[in-house]
Amino acid sequence: MDETMDASEVAAMPDWDLEEWEHALTIRVGTAYACRQCGNLIMVTRGGVGVLDLVCCGKPMQPVCTDSGKATST
Ligand SMILES: [Zn+2]
Repeated sequence: MDETMDASEVAAMPDWDLEEWEHALTIRVGTAYACRQCGNLIMVTRGGVGVLDLVCCGKPMQPVCTDSGKATST
């Protein structure tokens, strides 16, 4: 199955409100995507709004949490 969404499919999803769409379509600098298959790593160096559809080894790449601002427990 092709998992990419075109505009007509987007319009057919009324469950999502504007805030959810903005969140989903915002590409943040520093967001990393990894391929579990080969270990390939991609990092966003320029933010924007759009759909990021990264595929490696025939599978969608997984977003990697790069949140380094987490406070370490003492
Ligand atoms: Zn790969």
